[in-house]
This record gives sequence, structure tokens and C-alpha cells, in this order.
Amino acid sequence: MEVWYYEQYGEDLKAGFKTTDILFRGKSEYQTVDVIETAAYGRMLLLDGLVMCTDKDEFVYHEMISHVPALNHPKPEKIVVIGGGDGGTVRELLKHPEVKEIVLCEIDGMVVESCEKYFPEIASGIRDSRVKVNIGDGVAYMMEHAPGTLDIVLVDSTDPIGPGEGLFSGDFYRSVARALKPDGIMACQSESPWHDDPILKRIYKNVSAGFKHIYPYVGSIPTYPKGMWSWTMASNQPLDVKKFDLERFKKLDRSTELKYLNEELMSGVFAIPNFFKKKMMS
Ligand code: SAM
Repeated sequence: MEVWYYEQYGEDLKAGFKTTDILFRGKSEYQTVDVIETAAYGRMLLLDGLVMCTDKDEFVYHEMISHVPALNHPKPEKIVVIGGGDGGTVRELLKHPEVKEIVLCEIDGMVVESCEKYFPEIASGIRDSRVKVNIGDGVAYMMEHAPGTLDIVLVDSTDPIGPGEGLFSGDFYRSVARALKPDGIMACQSESPWHDDPILKRIYKNVSAGFKHIYPYVGSIPTYPKGMWSWTMASNQPLDVKKFDLERFKKLDRSTELKYLNEELMSGVFAIPNFFKKKMMS
């Protein structure tokens, strides 16, 4: 008998994944955690029934959320990753020799445990000597963080529902801006450009509560809702995204063979479609 897993997007849309095995089913204090084997995308992590990452396309999300801000920052030494319990963002950040310290602040220990067991490659950097794992709420962590001490904060969160909701609030983005040094950079996952207007407008408005300069960027992830995803980079000092650190990019690409990003895309990802611009800014 064929088994299919369906992710529902709102009332009228579903994506189905032919499932060859169910490896883990758990329920934590915050959410359900499932790991399945799919025929088309390999192993897949789901939280509360929503696709978080798959072996086949996780590289897009993780390269985009980590290298774009890291290569737009002059010297990314001290970094906080909020969420990101699968470890993929940490794995990519560790490819930058400038990085001295990463704090991974993930609310749900079950996500970290199940990813270290079922996604050893994605989670390969979690136990690195430059990484500190802090199991706790990212909203509280940033509110209490010492001001002006961080180079980069990455918000690798679930959607703005449940435990992830507070990570999309104006107060949260203000607390991130406060913890960053004057030339500090924040980047967050900011949902699909095809999502309904109000959520995209709300994210953009709330990021503006903490940051003067905002740079949304987009990419393609086949297993994410509607296949197109966005991230938002922000800073309180203007950034010239065409002038990212090319020498460091070339070194990174030579040493790690990036699978999604290339020199053109490093600035090309900021060329966003009109319908998306309109949704966020009108
Ligand atoms: N790439 C995924 C996406 O865009 O949907 C995100 C992956 S990562 C697994 C998301 C993580 O954020 C989850 O492990 C979840 O537990 C964590 N998370 C949600 N709310 C959080 C909070 N308030 N503080 C810290 N981590 C949180």
C-alpha cells in the first residue's frame, strides 16, 4: 500500500510526498517532531506537520540564510542563531574562518536530538568547539542579551505561529538591533512571497521597527509552500549588496563548492519580483 504525506497550505492547497518510511514520531512541549523518508526528496523533518528541511533541497535554505549576511559583514566573529535546531545554518557558518563563536538558541531540545540522530550531515557542526547550544526561547534570549556585542543574528525559525510567533514581533527585532554592534547584520526567514499580503506586510513593518535598512531576498525551495521563499537582511548602517566580500566568497566557494550560491546570485537574489515588493511595501 502506498503511503503519502500531505502538507496543507490553507484551505485549498496541499503538497503530497510519497513516503517510504516513518523513522521517528515525537511530541515535545512545543510541537510534534516527525522524521520521514520520502521517495522524491530523501529524509524529511516536519514540525507540527510542516516541512522544515529535506536531504535533497536543504542546501538552498542554509546557504541563503548564512552566507549572504556573512559575506556582507566585514568580520563576522560573534553570531547568534535563533532556532535552527537542525544545525544546517551552523554547519554553513562554520565554513567561514572569521567566525569565532556561534550561540545556537533553539527552544526545543527534541529537534536537536532527532536531527543529530537522523540528519547527521546537516547537524554535523552542532558539537563544534566554536558552537554553544542554548536550549531556550529566542525571544527571552535576545531581550536579555548584552547590548552592542554581536556581529550577526540569524533567525532560522518556524513560521509566525506557535513558539515562532514572538520571533516576528517589532519588540523582538528591536531587541536584536540592540544586541548588535553598530555595523551588525540580522537576517531572518520571511516566508513565501506567494503568501497572503497581511503576513508579509506585518513582517516588513516589524523589521522596520528595529532596522533602518532592509534588504529582502528570494530563492527557490521545491519542498516549501509554493516553491519560492524569502529571507530578509537588515542593518542600521546602509549595505551595498553588490559590494559583498568577493575574495572571501571565492575562498569559500573553492573550499566548500557551494551548491546554490554563485558570484552572480550573491547580489542577484536581491532582485525581487514586483508583486512581492508591492505586497510588502504598499
Ligand atoms: N528552515 C525552517 C523553516 O524555514 O521553516 C526552519 C528550520 S528550524 C528547524 C526552526 C526551529 O525554530 C525549530 O527547531 C523550532 O523549534 C525553533 N523555534 C521556534 N520558535 C522558537 C523560539 N521562540 N525560540 C527558539 N527557537 C524557536
